[in-house]
Amino acid sequence: MAILTAIDAHHVADAHAFARMQQAHLMRSGHYVATPKPEAQPSTAEINHSRWVFRCAGCNSSTYLFSRVPAAFCLGCGRQYRINWPSQADQQAGEAILLLRNFADMRNWQPATETVDALRAQNVAHGDPVPIVPVAPVPPGLGGTPSIIGTEG
Ligand SMILES: [Zn+2]
Repeated sequence: MAILTAIDAHHVADAHAFARMQQAHLMRSGHYVATPKPEAQPSTAEINHSRWVFRCAGCNSSTYLFSRVPAAFCLGCGRQYRINWPSQADQQAGEAILLLRNFADMRNWQPATETVDALRAQNVAHGDPVPIVPVAPVPPGLGGTPSIIGTEG
């Protein structure tokens, strides 16, 4: 199970195939622009009902995203946006937390206004599990693997 992306929605293999798919869709719908100019305000990738999407400020449509894609077209109106993503570490942590929620419509995240800690707190508040946070490795010289020899006096 994973948070869905354009790969799942549109059966594209990579970011280039995603861009070609978007172009073809925009040509069919009459929204194709030969020399697109990104909107001044970027959009932020968000998770809506277990799907990575971005919202168009122009027409309010949501469009699936290919993970980490830097720019995307709104399939509703053809506007192009630069896409802000949470850091890769935050993306992985946020997805892991949301995937512990039972229902897809409960997996929502707006990284522009919600931290990973906020998502974790929501899971706790709703009785959903939270991922086990791995213990950070001990830096060399500050401990490490306990020695069996000489520990029992
Ligand atoms: Zn739009």
